[in-house]
Amino acid sequence: MGAIRTFFTTFALTFALAIPAAAQTKANQLFGAKGSPSRQAPAAYGEYSKGCLAGGVQMPETGRTWQAMRLSRNRNWGHPEMIDFLGDLSHRVQRIGWPGLYIGDISQARGGPMLSGHASHQMGLDADVWMRKPQSLTLSRAERERIGSTNMRSANQRTVSANYSPDVGQVIQIAALDPRVDRIFVTPPVKIELCKRANRKDRKWLQKVRPLSGHNTHFHVRLKCPRGDRACETQRPTVDDLSNGGSGCDETLMWWVTDYLDPPKRTAPAKPSKPAPRKRGARDYTMADLPRQCAQVLSAP
Ligand SMILES: [Zn+2]
Repeated sequence: MGAIRTFFTTFALTFALAIPAAAQTKANQLFGAKGSPSRQAPAAYGEYSKGCLAGGVQMPETGRTWQAMRLSRNRNWGHPEMIDFLGDLSHRVQRIGWPGLYIGDISQARGGPMLSGHASHQMGLDADVWMRKPQSLTLSRAERERIGSTNMRSANQRTVSANYSPDVGQVIQIAALDPRVDRIFVTPPVKIELCKRANRKDRKWLQKVRPLSGHNTHFHVRLKCPRGDRACETQRPTVDDLSNGGSGCDETLMWWVTDYLDPPKRTAPAKPSKPAPRKRGARDYTMADLPRQCAQVLSAP
């Protein structure tokens, strides 16, 4: 009996040791430790919230029409299509009198899950753009750590704050009209405001603007999978599937005002329900959760 037990213990131990340590390490620690991009052809692998980025390109810290903020985070890396898009957008907003844009987090150098913050932003195809109109595009590194963006949601959560002005909406509209953009997340009061002010005949772009809590100071742009990136999975349903002329305005209003802020009273459940098990999220992923190509992205020089 003792011998059998010893045999099994030894067997179990050997088996456990056979699993490489890297397989158990959290993917966010592995990707978070990489400060430079992989020397590979650019490619987005996986999903926005479960993927990685090969051949990432750095958004230069300062351009003629932008500054990357919070440089200490080293999250100004993206798919080349994203870097091009942000350059174009920051240039286009000059049309409405903005000098350019402050760019927040894009992705880590090799994408992947992060130690803090976002669940998405993993393929270099998501970027946060500050809703604060830049006063200066010659901020020092220290100023870019210190200065914050502006809160566009009022304390009552139903309306935009006094910081909001229609040009913020114009910036979002310019972004939404770009065909590379799949969707844009904003705080619900901003979407409601856009719905109120938009031209009655030209509302299709509003479908791309999605209400999501937590986007009070920046809007989050998500690009479609770039052409030819076959291992990149576009989110379903895509905005194209939904955009049969719909603007999402009525739904937003209904959901936010009547469901989220003022939930209908429900009759109490008969039995106290068990607390739901915590959902596995981006911070729990190991390499086995990510597309297989991400192992090469991680190990490439
Ligand atoms: Zn974001």
